[in-house]
Amino acid sequence: MPKIHNFGAGPAKIPEEVYDILKNEFNNFDGTGISLLETSHRSGTYLKLNKDVQDVVRRLLNVPDNYKILFLSGGGQGQFAAVPLNLISRTGTADYVVTGAWSAKAAKEAKKYGKVNLVLPPTDRYDGIPDQSTWNLDPNASYVHICTNETIHGVEFDFIPDTKGVPLVADMSSNFMSKKVDVSKFGVIYGGAQKNIGTAGVALVIVREDLLNQALPICPSILDWTVNAKANSILNTPPMFAIQVMGRVLQWIERQGGLDKMAEMATKKSSLIYDVIEQSNGFYYAPVAKNARSKMNIPFRIGNADEALEKEFLKGAEALNLIQLKGHRDVGGIRASTYNAVTVEEVQTLVKYMKEFYQKHSK
Ligand code: PLP
Repeated sequence: MPKIHNFGAGPAKIPEEVYDILKNEFNNFDGTGISLLETSHRSGTYLKLNKDVQDVVRRLLNVPDNYKILFLSGGGQGQFAAVPLNLISRTGTADYVVTGAWSAKAAKEAKKYGKVNLVLPPTDRYDGIPDQSTWNLDPNASYVHICTNETIHGVEFDFIPDTKGVPLVADMSSNFMSKKVDVSKFGVIYGGAQKNIGTAGVALVIVREDLLNQALPICPSILDWTVNAKANSILNTPPMFAIQVMGRVLQWIERQGGLDKMAEMATKKSSLIYDVIEQSNGFYYAPVAKNARSKMNIPFRIGNADEALEKEFLKGAEALNLIQLKGHRDVGGIRASTYNAVTVEEVQTLVKYMKEFYQKHSK
């Protein structure tokens, strides 16, 4: 099998070393002689894994003691519902900062459970983050929701907003563990694992303890953070394999040098691609404002959105085993995702192809 360079936005590349570990332990987990897939979630074996994975999350992000770490089913979108169900009861209203397709979806889901205040003027051009001085924050909001990295539009926060004491809730599905984050600035951080920290099936939720015990009475137990915190994320049968994979990915991150190392690599990899775009005299075009450009998902267009040329680019890329580069169907074009598992060498291979394609097709 030739070497495949996977730039997919998610489910995305898993580090090669993690595959070797998973293969080795697949049918003999932790010396038990059986797979975790056929092990009771109430067993000592699973309890140990549950603790080990919580511990590595705590170490990597330096999570303060007054935060619970939960592993929940239902992915990122499950948490779009869980957030209002757990938090909106205080005032019945919540602030949503919509900077792309995913935060728009989160806001739409929240409307089912209370009043949603849109902090930014509605738009369908998501190409930056308006200056915080222009935000229409409601001091009465139960919480302020942001998506720290918009996977489809490639818009990433490079700052933590000041919400004037209102709890800040962040969807970090696509930049979780790509850099250090001051967890104490957030009330809740959540994300599906299948991009930067593992595989689909589990959402990682980090919630400040004082925000528990206020779920709406209609909140399903399976989405209720308080119930799940009390049950140590073993309320029902958890997605154990997804948690095993997440644990192995997080331990790999730790062995690489932790989040500072991930951040250094993310800057290096994304700069390589943005630099080619910038130096192409407009042949390649990145729509997002420079201060909000994502280091994880880099959407770009070719030749003023020339779809035929973009198709040719993708075909040529596939021939070189540079795969899953097609832009999201909502925005078209190309999207290169450079999550933690994607290596600098792989990005260099892509960049070399981008330069050659440019030289061949620019007039
Ligand atoms: N939030 C962001 C930023 C995402 O990129 C995604 C998925 O791509 C989701 C939420 C939804 O996650 P899930 O598919 O796990 O529900």
